Amino acid sequence: MEMPVPRPEILARKAELVERLLEVLPADAVISDPAETRAYECDALTAYKCPPLVAILPGSTEEVAAALRICHEMGVPVVPRGSGTSLAGGALPTADSVILGVARLNEVLETDYDNRFIRVQTGRTNLSVTGAVEEYGFFYAPDPSSQLACAIAGNIAMNSGGAHCLKYGVTTNNLMGVTMVLMDGTVLDLGGAHLEAEGLDLLGVVCGSEGQLGVVTEATLRILRKPEGARPVLIGFDSNEVAGACVSDIIKAGVLPVAIEFMDRPCIEATEDFAKAGYPMCEALLIVEVEGSDAEIDEQLGLIEDIARRHDPVEFRQSRSPEESAAIWLGRKSAFGAMGQINDYMCLDGTIPVSQLPHVLKRIGELSKQFGLDVANVFHAGDGNMHPLILFDANKPGDLELCEDLGSEILKLCVEVGGCLTGEHGVGIEKRDLMTHQYAPEDLEAQMAIKDVFDPKWLLNPAKVFPLASSDARRVA
Ligand SMILES: Cc1cc2nc3c(=O)[nH]c(=O)nc-3n(C[C@H](O)[C@H](O)[C@H](O)COP(=O)(O)OP(=O)(O)OC[C@H]3O[C@@H](n4cnc5c(N)ncnc54)[C@H](O)[C@@H]3O)c2cc1C
Repeated sequence: MEMPVPRPEILARKAELVERLLEVLPADAVISDPAETRAYECDALTAYKCPPLVAILPGSTEEVAAALRICHEMGVPVVPRGSGTSLAGGALPTADSVILGVARLNEVLETDYDNRFIRVQTGRTNLSVTGAVEEYGFFYAPDPSSQLACAIAGNIAMNSGGAHCLKYGVTTNNLMGVTMVLMDGTVLDLGGAHLEAEGLDLLGVVCGSEGQLGVVTEATLRILRKPEGARPVLIGFDSNEVAGACVSDIIKAGVLPVAIEFMDRPCIEATEDFAKAGYPMCEALLIVEVEGSDAEIDEQLGLIEDIARRHDPVEFRQSRSPEESAAIWLGRKSAFGAMGQINDYMCLDGTIPVSQLPHVLKRIGELSKQFGLDVANVFHAGDGNMHPLILFDANKPGDLELCEDLGSEILKLCVEVGGCLTGEHGVGIEKRDLMTHQYAPEDLEAQMAIKDVFDPKWLLNPAKVFPLASSDARRVA
């Protein structure tokens, strides 16, 4: 992965930068000792590492603005960071950049149950947003599998999704407003505690902008009433393609489960060894969950069972208790950890039309054989958001490069069948060089023109999203 050459003129001014940052931040919020900045050398895409020049942990929007103003004046790039769980290398530093972590911004600022919103600082973790309102029967819907650790900041930047987003939508559908600081220190408020933002939908531009436009410090989020009940079923099949066809038929029938999750045999075997959830040993399984009153659940599950039976499932297991529901979800929720026990892996994130699932799963199997690397599939099948996990050995020379090449082929396949390079993990550095495969030069130019407006010096989150040559040229200009 090519990264920009660190600028010697910035490296040479480290002491001056630290001194100026200490004028606006408390001493324990400025980390400059190389032994300590190493903690920020990567995110969850651990194949790529680079310690930052300095890391800072501001405690308020005002401190964020003051620190950004200094970096802007000195021409120092800034990489915003939430909890560092990005799987796309979105929070990877460059050697001449400042990591700006929002972990200390973790307060709940306001809750309004009548108007169904919560306002939080963005360093707050996803799960703790629900934690703050569940006692009153509410929840925050977007639920990335990393929700125990990941921050609302990263969720907004990546427009994150999760298992239950098939019904509730992803972050952008649940975000009502933000406070964001521009690179020059200007503080902006976009949207708010009402249905539609006035003027242009800049909130829609900011959500999913991967730290390219500003540092989001506060967010107003929609909260929802908890459903009356929910019940999952586990359906086993003897081939990936048949499981894919079943997903496509469920969606075609107009049933709207809250989640449809897919796991293939390598993933089932790994999670059984790890979590012992009692999954059947079959080629592929689906977890389909529906919500509502008991009568609504029975009706929806009846339709889903009819559709599934037409595909000759080897297992159809409906939960009859909260314990059985937890057991059905246990394996899925442990899947990434289980795969990590077997080998290093790279988790891809392409999106395809649901009707293409059988074809794409078959092609991934063929590509896996061709490249000689195992691929396990576990993903949000209902909305066509695939997560092929490519297993490789980081200590074996050439294996990472082989893995990158196989990943490129799989993501190109997603684009070829009418899908997209990313579903929820973002572009980061991982898919940066594939952007030219999906977008024509004029499309990319239009996207970069938006960054020109928000960050004219191109100092925010360098080397991500846009082809390196284009973004470097922009920064020089
Ligand atoms: C085991 C595992 C499971 C996962 N499952 C899912 C899943 O189901 N769904 C899903 O969508 N993702 C998933 N992810 C990916 C990841 O958790 C999400 O992308 C998450 O939103 C990242 O949040 P973070 O706070 O860790 O952000 P970081 O990794 O710190 O940063 C992510 C991006 O956000 C930018 N950013 C951070 N803070 C700010 C800010 N304040 N202002 C502007 N930009 C900012 C960064 O520059 C970077 O580009 C998973 C990751 C792991 C490790």
